Amino acid sequence: MQSYQTREMATPLCQPAASHFIDGTFMEDKTGPEILSVNPVNGEIIARLHGATSTMIEKAIGSAKRAQKEWARKEPAERGRVLRRAADIMRARNRELSVLETLDTGKPISETLVADAASGADCLEYFGAIAATLAGDSIQFGENWVYTRREPLGVCLGIGAWNYPIQIAAWKAAPALACGNALIFKPSEITPLSALRLAEILTEAGLPPGVFNVVQGAGDVGAELATHPAIAKVSLTGSVKTGARVASAAMADIRPVTMELGGKSALIVFDDADVEAAVSGAILGNFYSAGQICSNGTRVFLQRGIREAFLARLLERVAALKIGNPMDEETDIGPLVSADHRNRVAAYVAGAEVEGAYQVTPPRKLPPGDAWHEPVVFTNVTDWMTLAREEVFGPVMAVLDFDDEEDVVSRANATDFGLAAGIFTRDLVRAHRLAAELEAGTVWINAYNLTPAGMAFGGIKRSGIGRENGRAAIDHYTQLKSVFVSMQT
Ligand code: NDP
Repeated sequence: MQSYQTREMATPLCQPAASHFIDGTFMEDKTGPEILSVNPVNGEIIARLHGATSTMIEKAIGSAKRAQKEWARKEPAERGRVLRRAADIMRARNRELSVLETLDTGKPISETLVADAASGADCLEYFGAIAATLAGDSIQFGENWVYTRREPLGVCLGIGAWNYPIQIAAWKAAPALACGNALIFKPSEITPLSALRLAEILTEAGLPPGVFNVVQGAGDVGAELATHPAIAKVSLTGSVKTGARVASAAMADIRPVTMELGGKSALIVFDDADVEAAVSGAILGNFYSAGQICSNGTRVFLQRGIREAFLARLLERVAALKIGNPMDEETDIGPLVSADHRNRVAAYVAGAEVEGAYQVTPPRKLPPGDAWHEPVVFTNVTDWMTLAREEVFGPVMAVLDFDDEEDVVSRANATDFGLAAGIFTRDLVRAHRLAAELEAGTVWINAYNLTPAGMAFGGIKRSGIGRENGRAAIDHYTQLKSVFVSMQT
């Protein structure tokens, strides 16, 4: 719940038909705690919802259990067709979905139009196409043989973070449903709206009632769902702290998990890099979505020889970033998701100065409101500073210097996180050598933060377990059964 000043409208702008989507229809239970969806631009309440009570949770579980069996029996190609139709509907409704996402998160419409529902649609299309290719193996043992069945897990639970609400919902729904599972999705209470639209779209595309359900609520609802005996698997996108809690609760019952957690990724720029491309990567990897992206390359390591040229161009381009109304298609930086989150980010900025980092970006004039934070670049950051060790999740770039490759690899790896890394260099042999050495789930070479649906995405170390997207996700939404067939009768 946001603690800052909110403003009430007579009819909230984005009020859904009801809070939850269960068994193919909207459902309400006003006895659940109130959830306010707030536009961070101005504190306006855009929807009033209710968190799920145990009654709602049981309804969702019951409907998902019933629906999953029938859904799993459908021909995989038919499941795929439903997902591909949903992708088409999402694309047709992209602007409406983007406006909703911008109102709920504060992210610029220039981003949500291309990166949120659009990425969700790509994912639905990708797993829609893969559904028909799901297969087991056949292995001969002399005359006897074994065949394997790739079976769904059952009723899966998805829990989402607030930074990419519809994308996260779709990234979990698409592989889960393609494999014949049902999914119950709990969005972040901060951004509860767009998952409901995804539910409507899937229904319009022909998804049977109960296969995809949306249940609203805060962490307590997530926890109740995650420990429910009917849940076969939990996939969470969120912080390491929540991930540790949810994973241990799930693992206590030996339930598989996918954990997409935080990061403190390194973006390494060598002397021979294309300065413009490297600056673009660093801006994308620090200031897109006002820095609220898990895989951001927030530790920018500059080799000594490129430092001055890189910083000069970086500061020029950061100064040109347009901060303002996220509904304006020219805007680059909107507000953060909430005033509370803005205060957390501001505390990191104040702390970095105390620890001796230099803020090299001049102050910017910000629009009125409590959730705004300007893009900030710090130089002279050292490895031990809080800014170089903790995830800020805001528009704050830490610049560190290095001399040689060996040194930068060991410093890049000296973190508990392992979500991503980026390398900018024209020496591709070196780039591939580093890609092998960097401890991260994803490494970008001369690019940053590109996540096509066909590419497996996820972290190592404390950044997570399992993978979303790519064929790898299939392993995390199915279980393998071996059937041994004796030919001796
Ligand atoms: P949180 O960890 O605070 O919350 C994530 C989700 O978990 C929310 O829906 C939250 O509910 C729910 N939750 C909280 N406590 C529990 C619990 N005990 N049991 C079950 N569910 C619970 O993360 P944020 O929403 O603040 O998101 C930011 C974090 O997400 C960052 O660390 C970021 O790095 C990470 N992230 C990772 C990504 C990846 O793919 N690796 C992508 C995007 C973000 P509620 O918030 O409603 O209380």
